[in-house]
Amino acid sequence: MSKFWSPEVRELTPYVPGEQPRQRLVKLNTNENPYPPAPGVERALREFPAAHLRRYPDPESWALREALAREHGVDVDQVFVGNGSDEVLALAFQAFFRQSRPLLMPAISYSFYPVYCRLYDISYRTLALDDHWQVPLDALSADSGGVVFANPNAPTGHGHPRSAIARLLEQVSERVVLVDEAYVDFGGESAVPLIDIHPNLLVVGTFSKSRSLAGLRLGYAFGSRELIEGLERVKDSFNSYPIDSLASAAGIAALADRGHFEACRERVIATRERTRRRLDELGFEVLPSQTNFLLARHHDLDAGELFGGLRERGILVRHFNSEALRDFLRISIGTDDEMDSLIEALEAICR
Ligand SMILES: *Cc1c(COP(=O)(O)O)cnc(C)c1O
Repeated sequence: MSKFWSPEVRELTPYVPGEQPRQRLVKLNTNENPYPPAPGVERALREFPAAHLRRYPDPESWALREALAREHGVDVDQVFVGNGSDEVLALAFQAFFRQSRPLLMPAISYSFYPVYCRLYDISYRTLALDDHWQVPLDALSADSGGVVFANPNAPTGHGHPRSAIARLLEQVSERVVLVDEAYVDFGGESAVPLIDIHPNLLVVGTFSKSRSLAGLRLGYAFGSRELIEGLERVKDSFNSYPIDSLASAAGIAALADRGHFEACRERVIATRERTRRRLDELGFEVLPSQTNFLLARHHDLDAGELFGGLRERGILVRHFNSEALRDFLRISIGTDDEMDSLIEALEAICR
Protein backbone atom coordinates (compact mmCIF):
# COMPACT_ATOMS: atom_id res chain seq x y z
CA MET A 1 0.00 0.00 0.00
CA SER A 2 1.18 3.50 -0.77
CA LYS A 3 -0.35 6.87 -0.02
CA PHE A 4 0.40 7.79 -3.65
CA TRP A 5 -2.02 5.22 -5.09
CA SER A 6 -5.51 6.28 -6.17
CA PRO A 7 -8.25 4.76 -4.00
CA GLU A 8 -9.27 2.45 -6.87
CA VAL A 9 -5.74 1.09 -7.20
CA ARG A 10 -5.69 0.14 -3.52
CA GLU A 11 -8.76 -2.01 -4.14
CA LEU A 12 -7.40 -3.93 -7.15
CA THR A 13 -6.58 -7.65 -7.11
CA PRO A 14 -4.38 -8.04 -10.19
CA TYR A 15 -4.29 -11.18 -12.33
CA VAL A 16 -1.39 -13.49 -11.44
CA PRO A 17 0.14 -15.05 -14.57
CA GLY A 18 1.89 -18.43 -14.49
CA GLU A 19 5.45 -18.13 -13.31
CA GLN A 20 8.29 -17.60 -15.84
CA PRO A 21 11.10 -19.39 -14.00
CA ARG A 22 14.71 -18.27 -14.27
CA GLN A 23 16.18 -21.73 -13.92
CA ARG A 24 15.73 -24.39 -16.60
CA LEU A 25 12.52 -26.29 -15.99
CA VAL A 26 10.23 -28.31 -18.22
CA LYS A 27 7.70 -25.55 -18.49
CA LEU A 28 4.12 -26.79 -18.76
CA ASN A 29 2.38 -24.00 -16.85
CA THR A 30 1.34 -21.18 -19.20
CA ASN A 31 0.05 -22.95 -22.33
CA GLU A 32 2.84 -21.70 -24.55
CA ASN A 33 3.45 -23.61 -27.77
CA PRO A 34 6.45 -25.97 -27.52
CA TYR A 35 7.34 -25.45 -31.19
CA PRO A 36 8.99 -22.37 -32.70
CA PRO A 37 6.99 -19.96 -34.85
CA ALA A 38 6.99 -20.29 -38.65
CA PRO A 39 10.50 -19.93 -40.16
CA GLY A 40 9.27 -16.86 -42.05
CA VAL A 41 8.92 -15.04 -38.72
CA GLU A 42 12.63 -15.26 -38.05
CA ARG A 43 13.34 -14.12 -41.61
CA ALA A 44 10.98 -11.15 -41.27
CA LEU A 45 12.64 -10.08 -38.03
CA ARG A 46 16.17 -10.49 -39.40
CA GLU A 47 15.42 -8.58 -42.56
CA PHE A 48 13.47 -5.77 -40.90
CA PRO A 49 15.33 -2.50 -41.58
CA ALA A 50 16.12 -0.93 -38.20
CA ALA A 51 15.93 2.46 -39.92
CA HIS A 52 12.15 1.97 -40.18
CA LEU A 53 11.89 2.09 -36.41
CA ARG A 54 12.52 5.83 -36.67
CA ARG A 55 8.91 6.22 -37.72
CA TYR A 56 5.71 5.47 -35.80
CA PRO A 57 3.92 2.34 -36.95
CA ASP A 58 0.67 2.50 -38.93
CA PRO A 59 -1.93 3.47 -36.27
CA GLU A 60 -4.54 1.37 -38.10
CA SER A 61 -2.26 -1.69 -38.53
CA TRP A 62 -3.78 -2.04 -41.97
CA ALA A 63 -1.40 -4.67 -43.39
CA LEU A 64 -1.76 -6.99 -40.38
CA ARG A 65 -5.53 -6.60 -40.34
CA GLU A 66 -5.65 -7.33 -44.06
CA ALA A 67 -3.66 -10.54 -43.53
CA LEU A 68 -6.00 -11.60 -40.70
CA ALA A 69 -9.06 -10.75 -42.79
CA ARG A 70 -7.78 -12.88 -45.67
CA GLU A 71 -6.96 -15.81 -43.38
CA HIS A 72 -10.39 -15.78 -41.74
CA GLY A 73 -12.57 -14.81 -44.70
CA VAL A 74 -13.85 -11.49 -43.32
CA ASP A 75 -13.52 -7.82 -44.35
CA VAL A 76 -10.69 -5.65 -43.05
CA ASP A 77 -13.15 -3.38 -41.25
CA GLN A 78 -14.40 -6.40 -39.29
CA VAL A 79 -10.92 -6.84 -37.76
CA PHE A 80 -9.36 -5.18 -34.70
CA VAL A 81 -5.82 -5.83 -33.43
CA GLY A 82 -4.14 -5.23 -30.08
CA ASN A 83 -1.00 -5.79 -28.06
CA GLY A 84 -1.94 -9.33 -27.04
CA SER A 85 -5.53 -10.49 -26.71
CA ASP A 86 -5.42 -9.45 -23.05
CA GLU A 87 -5.32 -5.86 -24.28
CA VAL A 88 -8.12 -6.51 -26.78
CA LEU A 89 -10.22 -7.99 -23.96
CA ALA A 90 -9.51 -5.00 -21.72
CA LEU A 91 -10.60 -2.56 -24.45
CA ALA A 92 -13.71 -4.65 -25.14
CA PHE A 93 -14.71 -4.69 -21.47
CA GLN A 94 -14.46 -0.89 -21.43
CA ALA A 95 -16.21 -0.43 -24.75
CA PHE A 96 -19.17 -2.77 -24.21
CA PHE A 97 -19.63 -4.01 -20.66
CA ARG A 98 -19.88 -0.84 -18.56
CA GLN A 99 -23.65 -1.23 -18.42
CA SER A 100 -26.23 -0.83 -15.70
CA ARG A 101 -26.92 -4.56 -15.64
CA PRO A 102 -24.21 -7.07 -14.63
CA LEU A 103 -22.00 -8.91 -17.09
CA LEU A 104 -22.51 -12.70 -17.15
CA MET A 105 -19.62 -15.17 -17.19
CA PRO A 106 -19.00 -18.79 -16.20
CA ALA A 107 -17.79 -19.27 -12.61
CA ILE A 108 -14.78 -21.15 -13.98
CA SER A 109 -13.20 -19.43 -16.97
CA TYR A 110 -10.24 -17.17 -17.76
CA SER A 111 -9.49 -15.55 -14.41
CA PHE A 112 -8.61 -12.24 -16.04
CA TYR A 113 -12.31 -11.45 -16.72
CA PRO A 114 -13.19 -10.55 -13.10
CA VAL A 115 -9.95 -8.56 -12.87
CA TYR A 116 -11.05 -6.31 -15.76
CA CYS A 117 -14.45 -5.96 -14.12
CA ARG A 118 -12.86 -4.59 -10.98
CA LEU A 119 -10.53 -2.32 -12.94
CA TYR A 120 -13.37 -0.80 -14.97
CA ASP A 121 -15.98 -0.95 -12.23
CA ILE A 122 -18.20 -3.42 -14.07
CA SER A 123 -20.63 -5.46 -11.99
CA TYR A 124 -20.74 -9.13 -12.93
CA ARG A 125 -22.47 -12.37 -12.09
CA THR A 126 -20.94 -15.83 -12.42
CA LEU A 127 -22.79 -19.01 -13.39
CA ALA A 128 -21.74 -22.49 -12.28
CA LEU A 129 -20.50 -24.91 -14.92
CA ASP A 130 -22.79 -27.87 -15.61
CA ASP A 131 -22.19 -31.42 -14.29
CA HIS A 132 -19.75 -32.12 -17.13
CA TRP A 133 -17.58 -29.06 -16.42
CA GLN A 134 -19.07 -27.31 -19.46
CA VAL A 135 -20.05 -23.66 -19.90
CA PRO A 136 -23.85 -23.43 -19.28
CA LEU A 137 -24.83 -21.65 -22.50
CA ASP A 138 -28.56 -21.71 -21.71
CA ALA A 139 -28.03 -19.86 -18.44
CA LEU A 140 -25.88 -17.24 -20.19
CA SER A 141 -28.94 -16.08 -22.13
CA ALA A 142 -30.42 -14.59 -18.92
CA ASP A 143 -30.97 -10.85 -18.69
CA SER A 144 -27.58 -9.09 -18.43
CA GLY A 145 -25.31 -6.26 -19.53
CA GLY A 146 -23.30 -8.64 -21.75
CA VAL A 147 -21.80 -12.11 -21.89
CA VAL A 148 -18.18 -13.28 -21.90
CA PHE A 149 -16.69 -16.78 -21.97
CA ALA A 150 -13.80 -18.67 -23.50
CA ASN A 151 -14.62 -21.32 -26.12
CA PRO A 152 -12.98 -23.79 -25.76
CA ASN A 153 -13.07 -22.82 -22.11
CA ALA A 154 -10.02 -22.40 -19.92
CA PRO A 155 -8.87 -24.10 -17.78
CA THR A 156 -11.42 -26.87 -18.38
CA GLY A 157 -10.73 -27.49 -22.09
CA HIS A 158 -14.25 -28.14 -23.35
CA GLY A 159 -15.55 -26.31 -26.42
CA HIS A 160 -19.12 -25.88 -27.64
CA PRO A 161 -19.82 -26.29 -31.38
CA ARG A 162 -20.70 -23.23 -33.48
CA SER A 163 -24.34 -24.32 -33.65
CA ALA A 164 -24.60 -23.99 -29.85
CA ILE A 165 -23.11 -20.48 -29.95
CA ALA A 166 -25.59 -19.63 -32.71
CA ARG A 167 -28.47 -20.75 -30.46
CA LEU A 168 -27.21 -18.48 -27.67
CA LEU A 169 -27.06 -15.58 -30.13
CA GLU A 170 -30.66 -16.25 -31.18
CA GLN A 171 -31.60 -15.46 -27.59
CA VAL A 172 -29.17 -12.64 -26.86
CA SER A 173 -29.28 -9.86 -29.42
CA GLU A 174 -29.38 -6.62 -27.42
CA ARG A 175 -25.98 -6.87 -25.74
CA VAL A 176 -22.50 -7.95 -26.69
CA VAL A 177 -21.52 -11.62 -26.57
CA LEU A 178 -17.74 -11.94 -26.39
CA VAL A 179 -16.31 -15.36 -27.29
CA ASP A 180 -12.62 -15.72 -26.42
CA GLU A 181 -11.13 -18.24 -28.86
CA ALA A 182 -7.55 -18.32 -27.54
CA TYR A 183 -7.50 -22.14 -27.94
CA VAL A 184 -9.84 -22.73 -30.87
CA ASP A 185 -7.11 -23.99 -33.22
CA PHE A 186 -6.48 -27.08 -31.08
CA GLY A 187 -9.82 -28.69 -31.88
CA GLY A 188 -12.56 -26.13 -31.28
CA GLU A 189 -15.01 -24.71 -33.82
CA SER A 190 -14.74 -20.98 -34.47
CA ALA A 191 -17.76 -18.69 -34.24
CA VAL A 192 -16.22 -16.19 -36.70
CA PRO A 193 -18.63 -17.12 -39.55
CA LEU A 194 -21.49 -15.89 -37.33
CA ILE A 195 -20.30 -12.27 -37.19
CA ASP A 196 -22.09 -11.45 -40.46
CA ILE A 197 -25.43 -12.56 -38.99
CA HIS A 198 -25.03 -11.31 -35.41
CA PRO A 199 -23.84 -7.68 -35.04
CA ASN A 200 -23.44 -8.21 -31.27
CA LEU A 201 -20.89 -11.05 -31.56
CA LEU A 202 -17.23 -10.28 -30.85
CA VAL A 203 -14.74 -13.13 -31.34
CA VAL A 204 -11.31 -12.60 -29.78
CA GLY A 205 -8.16 -14.52 -30.78
CA THR A 206 -4.42 -14.54 -30.19
CA PHE A 207 -1.09 -15.34 -31.83
CA SER A 208 0.24 -16.51 -28.43
CA LYS A 209 -0.86 -20.14 -28.47
CA SER A 210 -1.36 -21.78 -31.87
CA ARG A 211 1.04 -19.39 -33.66
CA SER A 212 3.82 -19.81 -31.08
CA LEU A 213 4.19 -16.04 -30.57
CA ALA A 214 3.38 -15.40 -26.91
CA GLY A 215 6.46 -13.18 -26.62
CA LEU A 216 5.41 -10.95 -29.51
CA ARG A 217 2.10 -9.82 -27.97
CA LEU A 218 -0.45 -9.91 -30.79
CA GLY A 219 -4.18 -10.41 -30.36
CA TYR A 220 -7.23 -9.61 -32.46
CA ALA A 221 -10.99 -9.44 -32.58
CA PHE A 222 -13.56 -10.07 -35.32
CA GLY A 223 -16.97 -8.47 -35.26
CA SER A 224 -19.43 -6.15 -36.95
CA ARG A 225 -18.23 -2.72 -38.08
CA GLU A 226 -20.05 -1.07 -35.17
CA LEU A 227 -18.27 -3.26 -32.62
CA ILE A 228 -14.88 -2.68 -34.26
CA GLU A 229 -15.54 1.04 -34.28
CA GLY A 230 -16.40 0.89 -30.57
CA LEU A 231 -13.07 -0.79 -29.87
CA GLU A 232 -11.22 1.79 -31.98
CA ARG A 233 -12.81 4.63 -30.02
CA VAL A 234 -11.46 3.23 -26.76
CA LYS A 235 -8.08 2.30 -28.26
CA ASP A 236 -7.60 5.80 -29.67
CA SER A 237 -8.38 7.23 -26.26
CA PHE A 238 -5.64 5.08 -24.72
CA ASN A 239 -2.80 4.24 -27.16
CA SER A 240 -2.78 5.07 -30.88
CA TYR A 241 0.03 2.61 -31.68
CA PRO A 242 -0.45 -0.66 -29.78
CA ILE A 243 1.13 -2.74 -32.57
CA ASP A 244 4.80 -2.00 -33.21
CA SER A 245 6.20 -2.34 -36.74
CA LEU A 246 8.26 -5.43 -35.90
CA ALA A 247 5.31 -7.27 -34.38
CA SER A 248 3.22 -6.47 -37.42
CA ALA A 249 5.87 -7.83 -39.84
CA ALA A 250 6.31 -10.99 -37.76
CA GLY A 251 2.56 -11.55 -37.42
CA ILE A 252 2.04 -11.26 -41.17
CA ALA A 253 4.86 -13.76 -41.76
CA ALA A 254 3.28 -16.20 -39.28
CA LEU A 255 -0.08 -16.02 -41.07
CA ALA A 256 1.59 -16.66 -44.44
CA ASP A 257 2.76 -20.16 -43.44
CA ARG A 258 -0.33 -22.36 -43.32
CA GLY A 259 1.73 -25.57 -43.53
CA HIS A 260 3.78 -24.84 -40.42
CA PHE A 261 0.66 -23.83 -38.49
CA GLU A 262 -1.20 -27.03 -39.40
CA ALA A 263 1.79 -29.27 -38.67
CA CYS A 264 2.37 -27.74 -35.21
CA ARG A 265 -1.22 -27.89 -34.10
CA GLU A 266 -1.58 -31.49 -35.29
CA ARG A 267 1.51 -32.46 -33.29
CA VAL A 268 0.17 -30.74 -30.18
CA ILE A 269 -3.19 -32.51 -30.58
CA ALA A 270 -1.53 -35.93 -31.08
CA THR A 271 0.72 -35.40 -28.03
CA ARG A 272 -2.27 -34.27 -25.98
CA GLU A 273 -4.23 -37.45 -26.70
CA ARG A 274 -1.20 -39.64 -25.99
CA THR A 275 -0.58 -37.83 -22.69
CA ARG A 276 -4.24 -38.14 -21.78
CA ARG A 277 -4.18 -41.91 -22.11
CA ARG A 278 -1.04 -42.17 -20.00
CA LEU A 279 -2.43 -39.92 -17.25
CA ASP A 280 -5.51 -42.06 -17.28
CA GLU A 281 -3.40 -45.18 -16.69
CA LEU A 282 -1.68 -43.41 -13.77
CA GLY A 283 -4.99 -42.97 -11.97
CA PHE A 284 -5.97 -39.47 -13.09
CA GLU A 285 -9.37 -38.30 -14.17
CA VAL A 286 -8.62 -36.15 -17.23
CA LEU A 287 -11.25 -33.81 -18.65
CA PRO A 288 -11.70 -34.00 -22.45
CA SER A 289 -9.74 -31.17 -24.09
CA GLN A 290 -9.98 -29.21 -27.33
CA THR A 291 -7.02 -27.05 -26.27
CA ASN A 292 -3.26 -27.31 -25.75
CA PHE A 293 -3.61 -28.25 -22.08
CA LEU A 294 -5.19 -30.92 -19.92
CA LEU A 295 -7.03 -30.44 -16.64
CA ALA A 296 -6.55 -33.53 -14.50
CA ARG A 297 -7.10 -34.71 -10.94
CA HIS A 298 -5.71 -37.82 -9.31
CA HIS A 299 -8.14 -40.24 -7.72
CA ASP A 300 -6.05 -40.51 -4.53
CA LEU A 301 -3.21 -38.00 -4.48
CA ASP A 302 -3.39 -34.35 -3.47
CA ALA A 303 -2.86 -31.86 -6.32
CA GLY A 304 -0.73 -29.52 -4.20
CA GLU A 305 1.63 -32.36 -3.32
CA LEU A 306 1.79 -33.51 -6.94
CA PHE A 307 2.61 -29.95 -7.97
CA GLY A 308 5.42 -29.80 -5.39
CA GLY A 309 6.77 -33.23 -6.35
CA LEU A 310 6.87 -32.28 -10.01
CA ARG A 311 8.55 -29.00 -9.25
CA GLU A 312 11.28 -30.79 -7.27
CA ARG A 313 11.85 -32.92 -10.36
CA GLY A 314 12.19 -29.85 -12.58
CA ILE A 315 8.68 -29.83 -14.05
CA LEU A 316 6.40 -26.85 -13.71
CA VAL A 317 2.62 -27.21 -14.14
CA ARG A 318 -0.21 -24.96 -12.95
CA HIS A 319 -2.09 -25.46 -9.71
CA PHE A 320 -4.87 -22.99 -8.97
CA ASN A 321 -5.72 -22.51 -5.34
CA SER A 322 -9.37 -21.63 -5.93
CA GLU A 323 -11.92 -23.80 -4.12
CA ALA A 324 -13.35 -25.33 -7.31
CA LEU A 325 -10.01 -26.22 -8.91
CA ARG A 326 -7.99 -27.18 -5.85
CA ASP A 327 -7.94 -30.90 -6.76
CA PHE A 328 -6.73 -30.30 -10.31
CA LEU A 329 -3.50 -29.68 -12.15
CA ARG A 330 -3.50 -27.85 -15.47
CA ILE A 331 -0.83 -29.30 -17.68
CA SER A 332 0.21 -27.54 -20.90
CA ILE A 333 1.09 -29.78 -23.83
CA GLY A 334 4.82 -29.68 -24.56
CA THR A 335 6.91 -31.78 -26.93
CA ASP A 336 6.67 -35.58 -26.76
CA ASP A 337 9.98 -35.63 -24.86
CA GLU A 338 8.72 -33.13 -22.31
CA MET A 339 5.53 -35.10 -21.78
CA ASP A 340 7.60 -38.28 -21.35
CA SER A 341 9.53 -36.50 -18.57
CA LEU A 342 6.24 -35.50 -16.97
CA ILE A 343 4.89 -39.05 -17.04
CA GLU A 344 8.17 -40.47 -15.67
CA ALA A 345 8.15 -37.95 -12.83
CA LEU A 346 4.51 -38.72 -12.03
CA GLU A 347 5.26 -42.46 -12.04
CA ALA A 348 8.05 -41.84 -9.52
CA ILE A 349 5.78 -39.70 -7.33
CA CYS A 350 2.83 -42.10 -7.48
CA ARG A 351 5.01 -45.09 -6.53
C1 LIG B 1 -3.69 -17.09 -23.09
C2 LIG B 1 -5.07 -16.54 -23.05
C3 LIG B 1 -5.34 -15.23 -23.45
C4 LIG B 1 -4.27 -14.17 -23.58
O1 LIG B 1 -3.53 -14.23 -24.65
P1 LIG B 1 -2.53 -13.08 -25.05
O2 LIG B 1 -2.89 -12.84 -26.47
O3 LIG B 1 -1.18 -13.69 -24.87
O4 LIG B 1 -2.73 -11.87 -24.21
C5 LIG B 1 -6.66 -14.81 -23.55
N1 LIG B 1 -7.67 -15.63 -23.20
C6 LIG B 1 -7.44 -16.88 -22.76
C7 LIG B 1 -8.60 -17.73 -22.38
C8 LIG B 1 -6.14 -17.36 -22.65
O5 LIG B 1 -5.91 -18.56 -22.15
